[in-house]
Amino acid sequence: MAETPYEPRLKALQHALTRKNLDAYIVLDRSNTFYLTGFTGTFSILLIGNRAAYFITDFRYIERVRAHLAGFTIVLSKRNHERTVARIARRKSWKRIGFEETITYGDLERLRNADRRLQLQCARGMIEALRIKKDQAELLSIRKAAATCDAVFARIRPLLRPGTAEKQIERKIRTTIERLGGQSEAFPTIVASGPNSSMPHYETGSRTLQKGDLVTIDLGVRLDGYCSDITRTFFIGSASREQRRIYEVVLEAQKRALEGIKPGVAATQADRLARSFIVQSGYGKFFGHGLGHGVGIDIHEPPYLRQEDKTLLYPGMVITIEPGIYIPGKMGVRIEDLAVVTDIGCEVLTLTPKDFSAAVLRI
Ligand code: ZN
Ligand code: ZN
Repeated sequence: MAETPYEPRLKALQHALTRKNLDAYIVLDRSNTFYLTGFTGTFSILLIGNRAAYFITDFRYIERVRAHLAGFTIVLSKRNHERTVARIARRKSWKRIGFEETITYGDLERLRNADRRLQLQCARGMIEALRIKKDQAELLSIRKAAATCDAVFARIRPLLRPGTAEKQIERKIRTTIERLGGQSEAFPTIVASGPNSSMPHYETGSRTLQKGDLVTIDLGVRLDGYCSDITRTFFIGSASREQRRIYEVVLEAQKRALEGIKPGVAATQADRLARSFIVQSGYGKFFGHGLGHGVGIDIHEPPYLRQEDKTLLYPGMVITIEPGIYIPGKMGVRIEDLAVVTDIGCEVLTLTPKDFSAAVLRI
């Protein structure tokens, strides 16, 4: 049988445990569980030691995981799941046990009460640190999710005309994603038209597009459990001089970042590549968010390309590059692409055209 992507991930975590001097690690986070096992159910506890790994779940999922999970001993837990964890730990003589920072207070209390002798300690980011570099299987899924974004944009174009409501466009995006084989949107799609576009996280509403509007559409596709993310800004019919100027500044800022991103560049430097151009152009105070974020199982995950973040970029990281300029109450332009850091630079995965002439839609 061919090796699944899960065995190397499990081994990498086990190495990391040894380095941290932990006997075992408890995994409750759904995204981390998916990363290690491919399991998408709502309940499981992974208890992973240096040489053994246990997958604890209840009767709802036991059949499913028995058939699929390699590398884990499957444990059916009936009632007190924390006591099941404690029992295994005792049998294996595991004492120092790490947990994720996202654990709930209730879960932690129950674990403590299950066996007071366990030395439970927060060991944050252990799996997230592995997830930051995507393997081949993950890159394949993300490429497909990115290509689906492009296909969605190609199909919704005819709707981008006066009289169409933001909500209508959002609905069409959702149904198109499903028709194209995506599982769902990676996050609630943003369709922000006219003055609404000045809010980077606008909640799509009932406003209808008008001639001369600018509309910003931020969408993502979830496919095979992985996300993609893209933003385009369009002009309905024509752009004013100011709109065009702002668009060109954002586009140039993005281009500078894309050209400069390569292994060894720090996240803060990447942010600066775009930000310094926007500042020079006089719009510095209107670029209020970071340049981008990592994308994978979660839509926002490390690394974060923002000021002060010293994380060094390296091959296999998947990131967004999304500069924007937002003039309150008036307009906003954001251009976002998904890219993977390569050995020599970065490769853009979302390919929907973005030069100014492509952004102006004839009506
Ligand atoms: Zn986005
Ligand atoms: Zn984004």
